[in-house]
Amino acid sequence: MKKICVFCSSSDRIKSSFFKAATELGEMIAQKNWSLIYGGTDMGLMGALARAVHSKGGYVTGVIPAFLKEKNIAYNKADELLITESMRERKKIMEEKADAFIALPGGFGTLEEILEIITLKQLHLHNKPVVLLNIEDYYKDLLVFFENMYNKSFAKPDYRKLYVITSDAEKALSYIQNYRPLQLQSKWF
Ligand code: AMP
Repeated sequence: MKKICVFCSSSDRIKSSFFKAATELGEMIAQKNWSLIYGGTDMGLMGALARAVHSKGGYVTGVIPAFLKEKNIAYNKADELLITESMRERKKIMEEKADAFIALPGGFGTLEEILEIITLKQLHLHNKPVVLLNIEDYYKDLLVFFENMYNKSFAKPDYRKLYVITSDAEKALSYIQNYRPLQLQSKWF
């Protein structure tokens, strides 16, 4: 059973098509008999995702820092709710426990989390699959910026393979299912 870590928005203000995408992803994770590990709140896409996993009988692990839990935003129906002292400890647990990482659309929190996972892979500190689920081309400008990094030698072009980009949840999960650890060049030129 694979444990899929999903980073995504905590906003309740975003349009419904993003909620639909989070729900579809959650249902598909459960239908594959995989489990979800995520930030542990019931807000925004995070809540929609966790509820969708449960709606199809899946298993949900939430990892939430105590200061956020105190704000009463935890998803209390999680099968497992791990309470951490800090945001950093939360990320460490998610990174260690997960077999794969997906970023749905999100804000600073989501970006920071997925970029750390890509950074660690670049340094060969893990070799797990990473997917940017680019719903409605939300990450378009970020991907243009990534090309800027490659073109100006701030990152090796080979590192385009650190992550895959798709708007299709089915394709994302099939990439994860068939993933073989990559042979990566060293980070430095
Ligand atoms: P954001 O994309 O800024 O909405 O942040 C959501 C992501 O960052 C999630 O994947 C969480 O793990 C983490 N996070 C940051 N802030 C929050 C918050 N207020 N509530 C829940 N999770 C948060």
